[in-house]
Amino acid sequence: MRTRFAPSPTGPLHLGHAFSAITAHDMVRATGGQFLLRIDDIDQSRARPEWEDLITEDLAWLGLTWDEPPWRQSDHLSDYRAIVEHLAGRDLTYPCSCTRRDIAEAAAAPQEGTPKHGPDGRIYPGTCRGRPMSDWTEGMAIRLDLAKALPDLDVGFTETGPARAGPHRVTLATLLAQVGDPVLARPHMAASYHLSVVLDDAAQAITHVIRGEDLFEATQLQRALQALLGLPTPIYHHHRLIRDDTGKRLAKRDDARAIRTYRDEGATPADIRRMIGL
Ligand code: GLU
Repeated sequence: MRTRFAPSPTGPLHLGHAFSAITAHDMVRATGGQFLLRIDDIDQSRARPEWEDLITEDLAWLGLTWDEPPWRQSDHLSDYRAIVEHLAGRDLTYPCSCTRRDIAEAAAAPQEGTPKHGPDGRIYPGTCRGRPMSDWTEGMAIRLDLAKALPDLDVGFTETGPARAGPHRVTLATLLAQVGDPVLARPHMAASYHLSVVLDDAAQAITHVIRGEDLFEATQLQRALQALLGLPTPIYHHHRLIRDDTGKRLAKRDDARAIRTYRDEGATPADIRRMIGL
C-alpha cells in the first residue's frame, strides 16, 4: 500500500488537514506500506515556500514521517505540459476563454433549467468546443473535448470510504452531465489540478488515494483521465470532513484552527488527535 498526502502550500494546515494526513498515515502504517508527501504547488501564483516549510514542520510535529523526499509539482511542470501538448496534437483539446461569469450566465439561460454544479463549479456547457488550438493564447484555458476523446467511456473505480463504499461506474454520459468538458490547463498554468493529480498518482505509484469526501465527485473525472492516458487506477477512500461549530467545513482561511495556533497555545499532538476524534 502506498498513499500520499497532498497539501497545497497556500496557507497553514488546519484540523481538517491534520485529520486527512493522520488518517492516511495511520492506515498505511498499519499495513507496513508507504506514506508519501506531495506538495501541490501547481498554482504558482498562490504557493509560497514559507507555507511549505510550515506544513512540513506541522506534519513532523504531529509525528508523521514520509518515506521519500517530498514530491513537488513545480518540479514537474514540463511533464504535465507535455501531456497537454500531446492531447492537443491528437486534436482532443480546445482553447477556452470563458470566465466563471460566462459559464454562470450560460447555465442560467431560461432553457437550461436550474444551474447544476459539478466538482469544478458549474457544469461547463461547451461554449468554446470546436475552437481551433491556433486561437489559444497564454490567458486562455485548455479543455478536453470529452466526447471526442472518450466516446466509449465506461469504466469503474472502487471506493472504500464509509459514506459511499462500493464499486462506482463512470460513463461519457454521466461525465458530460455532471462535469462537462474538463480544464486540462488553466490560464498561465502548466496544467489543472485534475490532470496533475492523475499523473502524479501514477508517477508515485500510489495504490490508495485517501482524502476528504469533498473530492469524491472529482474522482470520476480523474478516473476518466486515467482511462484516456492509460494510467493505473488506485483504490479510493474518501473520509469524513472536519467541520466547525456551525457545521461548515474548515477552509484555509480558518486560521483560528491552524495547527500552528494550537502548537503555540501548548497543545500536544495527542490533543490534536482527540480534537478530531482519532
Ligand atoms: N491539494 C489538494 C487539496 O488540498 C489535494 C487533493 C488530492 O488529495 O487529490 O485538496
